[in-house]
Amino acid sequence: MDRLDYLIVGSGLYGATFAHLAHKAGKRCLVIDKRPHLGGNVYCEDVEGIHVHKYGAHIFHTSNKEVWDFVNSIVPFNRYTNSPVANYHGELYNLPFNMNTFHQMWGVNTPEEAQAKIEEQRAEAKETMVAAGVAEPRNLEEQALLLVGRDIYEKLVKGYTEKQWGRACTDLPAFIIKRLPVRFVYDNNYFNDKYQGIPEGGYNKLIDGLLEGIETRTDTDFFANREYWESIADKIVFTGKIDEFYGYRFGKLEYRTVRFENEILPCPNYQGNAVINYTARDVPYTRVIEHKHFESFGQAVYDNPCTVISREYSTEWKDGMEPFYPVNDEKNNSLYLKYKALADAESNVIFGGRLAEYKYYDMAPIVDRVLNLWK
Ligand SMILES: Cc1cc2nc3c(=O)[nH]c(=O)nc-3n(C[C@H](O)[C@H](O)[C@H](O)COP(=O)(O)OP(=O)(O)OC[C@H]3O[C@@H](n4cnc5c(N)ncnc54)[C@H](O)[C@@H]3O)c2cc1C
Repeated sequence: MDRLDYLIVGSGLYGATFAHLAHKAGKRCLVIDKRPHLGGNVYCEDVEGIHVHKYGAHIFHTSNKEVWDFVNSIVPFNRYTNSPVANYHGELYNLPFNMNTFHQMWGVNTPEEAQAKIEEQRAEAKETMVAAGVAEPRNLEEQALLLVGRDIYEKLVKGYTEKQWGRACTDLPAFIIKRLPVRFVYDNNYFNDKYQGIPEGGYNKLIDGLLEGIETRTDTDFFANREYWESIADKIVFTGKIDEFYGYRFGKLEYRTVRFENEILPCPNYQGNAVINYTARDVPYTRVIEHKHFESFGQAVYDNPCTVISREYSTEWKDGMEPFYPVNDEKNNSLYLKYKALADAESNVIFGGRLAEYKYYDMAPIVDRVLNLWK
């Protein structure tokens, strides 16, 4: 094999975007991935003609025109708009908290009525705290009650948050919820960003487009043959786990993960929306995703007589599970900084992406970071 300019470890959005730009700049690249497919966490599996987001629902959103134009130059994006619905013991509420939610919760019709209701409940929370001699919220529950009042907290925040973190809201620190945005308009669009959507034809089209003309190898773990891979390239772009790169010499970083339970159902439209959050504590899963709604709209939903859903269970991470969300607490952050100090001293390795930087990134910021590297 001719010597490579870049060996790119990981074919997720970071690795694929890097490879694309390097290839365009005339560099010789090889992309390897230990999974049996390309695309990292945005990979979709074709099940009954439906693109199933195998590693969790992915919705691209950004206000950055350069990023939006770039991804659309690879594949056009559709007009999917994320507007999740919350199910609390069979009662349905629109999210994010907006006039539709307040109407469903209290029967109020105007912003003035909704504001008055929220203010009344926030004042109650404040009084309770003052009566207990508490000046600052001591935990997430007190913080949320101060921000949105009892009804929204109990029906839409408490159970969902406890399932996500695996702990009671009274045992979680207040700082986790700095804001709980409320909108006094009838607007169910979850994101405030200017652009959002899903690649037409699915995320695999985006990854295949980025990697067009570039050599790739799946089922190939960098660590299984590290010396060889290090010997064939001038530079390595590493998007795997930074602690693994250094043989876990300071200890292992921790993550939270999500377990997915997928089901094919013999009906064309199971829940009428891509995302339904189950906000009651006694329902074990946090969300149900119905994948076809990301890419089929209106009557087209009925073109396929079946559907695929995924129930999501937020889970403690153990070795062998997918490392999804870094736990950026003090212990893990200081451990990461030890690894980062080693990484900063490397001259031939670029560490990038969510695992190598031990930081949660949405997709658009990942693309933005790589575009900036190549400017
Ligand atoms: C559950 C979930 C839902 C999300 N939803 C959204 C969303 O709705 N919108 C949004 O903008 N973002 C979302 N994200 C974030 C999005 O997934 C990330 O921004 C994106 O995946 C980051 O890409 P990456 O290349 O850094 O990482 P990854 O996609 O994880 O890619 C890393 C790749 O490296 C490979 N690799 C690791 N180690 C090795 C090794 N030793 N040898 C070879 N290959 C290796 C892995 O197999 C993987 O393919 C979500 C993330 C999660 C976890």
